[in-house]
Amino acid sequence: MRKPIVRNLCVLALIVLAVRTVLSGSGKPEDYRALVDKVRETGLSGERAFALLERITSVGPRLTGSPQAAAAVDLTRDLMAELGLARVHTEPVEVGHWTRGQVAEASVAASPSRAAIPLAVCALGGSVGTPERGITARVVEVRSLEEAASLGKSAEGKIVFFNRAMDRGLTDSFAAYGAAADQRVSGASAAARVGAAAVLVRSLTFRDDRNPHTGMLRYDPDAPAIPAAAIGTADADRLNALLKKGKDVSVSLRMDCRDRGKVVSANVVGEITGSELPSEIILLGGHLDSWDLGVGAHDDAAGCAAALEAVALLHDLGLRPRRTIRAVMFMDEEFGGTGGRAYAVAPQRKGERHLVAAESDRGGFVPVGLAIGSGDRKAIERVLPYADLIRPFGIWFIVPGGGGVDVAPLIANGAVPAAVLVNAQTYFDVHHSALDVVARVAPRELELQAVVLAILAYILAEEGV
Ligand SMILES: [Zn+2]
Repeated sequence: MRKPIVRNLCVLALIVLAVRTVLSGSGKPEDYRALVDKVRETGLSGERAFALLERITSVGPRLTGSPQAAAAVDLTRDLMAELGLARVHTEPVEVGHWTRGQVAEASVAASPSRAAIPLAVCALGGSVGTPERGITARVVEVRSLEEAASLGKSAEGKIVFFNRAMDRGLTDSFAAYGAAADQRVSGASAAARVGAAAVLVRSLTFRDDRNPHTGMLRYDPDAPAIPAAAIGTADADRLNALLKKGKDVSVSLRMDCRDRGKVVSANVVGEITGSELPSEIILLGGHLDSWDLGVGAHDDAAGCAAALEAVALLHDLGLRPRRTIRAVMFMDEEFGGTGGRAYAVAPQRKGERHLVAAESDRGGFVPVGLAIGSGDRKAIERVLPYADLIRPFGIWFIVPGGGGVDVAPLIANGAVPAAVLVNAQTYFDVHHSALDVVARVAPRELELQAVVLAILAYILAEEGV
């Protein structure tokens, strides 16, 4: 049964009219206390953020350029209208369309001493396919792009296996991901430059399992485009063990993924228009596209749902802040952010000034901190006086940072980056894999994230930054 997403507005609006009259941008933290209580009570009274996530994921995986991504655009536009947001519209974006195809097979070739060993693989996003008969070649293992480059002629015709694990000793899972991701993004071209036939890349996850994790690769124009696949960590360890034994290890790889050219998709936009400074914008974003192995529940239906719920909560409470609070569901973050770039230069941006750009793309987990501003501490100093208001939600630190692929062009133009930081220790267990499904998201954690985002957005929209 589809869960309702429209709250009982008349009751809420009456309750909160009283809250609004206390405020009018007076700036004192205590003036916001009643508002914070009301947003908390309303948000935590149910699971609407989760219901929104269920609706967004109901179309299935939303791979950029796919029919499901197009369905998600229509659905989200309708959702915004249903939630009562103002100026709901879509803005066109030309995106790529790559398809995974039906075949992604790999195995360690049989040898006189052992049978063939199947490997769990998936194509990396954007990879070319193999010839129909596949590629069978000796494997050479490396830990870095530099090591691949140093192989020289010895890599010719081989499958280069990038096997640098995410550093489990790092407490910041994003830092561990970031420090290992160059193999996935640039490994294919680094290997192709020394004549390799294909690459296998260890999946970017802390988990020891057989789930391959996909993600974007980037082919450099000066290197041949060769097939690239991710391999589950357990299988990567197995392959490593075989190679350590020193025997010749050959792998067969067969994939029928391919590029299908360009299609027109869209970003989806809706807002609470500011009462005094409507052209000054506090942007709350998420990305509508996802990878296609799961349904992109954490990445990034959760971020979309948190941003939508934050704006909808304020709308339900009858609040109209001085500046505009806008929800933007970006298209095509995963293949590099064409949606974010299109949004920044769309004709609608004329005369608008984005004060803050907050992208939610860290999974639908429980909030633990805020990131705001980069470079200097000006934005942090602006928010710090209100820290006591959000501490009960589990916000224990406020640090410089924020931002994201989709909002990077806005930040380059002067918008202050911001983000609700979450406990993402398990994010990369599911990220870009078949495990990124609705059941992995905890409704209350997602709602807490949305509530904090709503409060942050409202204070920034009233006070500026
Ligand atoms: Zn994402």
